[in-house]
Amino acid sequence: MKLSFEELLEEGGHFEGDFAFTEDDMKVTVESFSADFIPTDSGLFLDISFSYSYETPCARCLELTKGFGRQTAGIQLMQQSLEDVKEEAELTDDDMGVCWIEEDEIDLHEIVRQEVAFHLPLRLVCGDDCKGLCPKCGENLNTGSCKCKEETDPRWSGLDKLKNN
Ligand SMILES: [Zn+2]
Ligand SMILES: [Zn+2]
Repeated sequence: MKLSFEELLEEGGHFEGDFAFTEDDMKVTVESFSADFIPTDSGLFLDISFSYSYETPCARCLELTKGFGRQTAGIQLMQQSLEDVKEEAELTDDDMGVCWIEEDEIDLHEIVRQEVAFHLPLRLVCGDDCKGLCPKCGENLNTGSCKCKEETDPRWSGLDKLKNN
């Protein structure tokens, strides 16, 4: 979704939509987003709210697991061609709230995508009590126990020998 910075600077604008993207091995759906562009003295202020869901394998048992979220964000949009502003703002380059716009083009989906990606969890587990996979046979321990479980851990067998002596 490409928008014109100059046009929005005159009257602002309101946009809504939905789209999907993938982030690493996560399938992310932006269920809906709402964006308001508000002209300010220093450029454009973007007020967005979005709800999203994501689907990824559980970090422990690899079962497909879903999550969802809802966030709002406020971002100051600055045009990159304004060299003087750019130099001044280089000091605050790590400010998460500023987004540099190249030329006259605002890619609204890309801005929303970055905001959603920022809020995605690094790893997801299907539940706090997920037992994961057996490190030996790969059996999903949530669905039952595997045979390896009854065997004694080889790391302790030496200890047992000492004890039995
Ligand atoms: Zn799991
Ligand atoms: Zn096993």
